[in-house]
Amino acid sequence: MSVPAPLLASFPNLPIGVALIGACFGSFLNLVAWRLPREESILLPPSHCPHCGSRLRWYENLPVLGWLWLRGRCGHCGAPIAIRYPLVELLSAGLWVACLQATPAAMGPRPLAWLVVLAGWLLLSWLLPLLLIDLDYLWLPEPLCRIGLLLGLGMTAIIGFQQGEAVGRALLFHHLLAAGVALVGFEGVSALAERLIGKPALGLGDAKLAAMLGAWLGLTGLGITVVLAVFGGAVVGSIGRLSGRLGRHQPFPFGPFLAAGGAAVWLWGHDFWLPLLGLVGPAP
Ligand SMILES: [Zn+2]
Repeated sequence: MSVPAPLLASFPNLPIGVALIGACFGSFLNLVAWRLPREESILLPPSHCPHCGSRLRWYENLPVLGWLWLRGRCGHCGAPIAIRYPLVELLSAGLWVACLQATPAAMGPRPLAWLVVLAGWLLLSWLLPLLLIDLDYLWLPEPLCRIGLLLGLGMTAIIGFQQGEAVGRALLFHHLLAAGVALVGFEGVSALAERLIGKPALGLGDAKLAAMLGAWLGLTGLGITVVLAVFGGAVVGSIGRLSGRLGRHQPFPFGPFLAAGGAAVWLWGHDFWLPLLGLVGPAP
């Protein structure tokens, strides 16, 4: 699955335009990740310095460029602006462009390319604030997971039924099943861990995020996502503990690994990950 050749042939600058829009969305998602946990409105007031409250001028608000222009400091009070902001904008731009070439296996055999691209932008832009908020607060906001789950089922239905009723029904069934399995599985593992080691190994938010990913990726995609997330979490957790940056009993968020795993499964598809993880041999 990729953008049909004629589309890219008629619009050779498409990736540039998409990168610009992706960067602007990244800027907005930074704002969501900052304001949502503080229960501030996402729409008003316009962007302002959280330190001195002065409003940003339009060119200071430009993704990446604004930060470079200000050399990472508020133009009024000089308070530092974290480099995370332009990095998230760059990441969002890159993810948006990557969605043009994404090959998600979860959306049936012959989905319309542009629908898959739209779905990818939606999914990845939904995962990014979840990842950022979990990093900051060890918290995955329940409404974001719930709406993300419904959006996943909605996109699955649209793309599935676009390929015929049989495909639509089958996809919807598998994605619903995956969401349920994720919820029950994660809560089960957490309850078991609580019994064995006396504290929950996973937050309740992880179960909800996994359910949302199941709604988007189906059972196989969810399985690959969990394997990638466990592997990534183990590697990063070990490095953190060995290097002393993470205390022995200090919890660290699992949500970012789930989100990154889900994004990787969407972008590269099952055929890429399954042989790589040794779960099946390469396709003949
Ligand atoms: Zn300021």
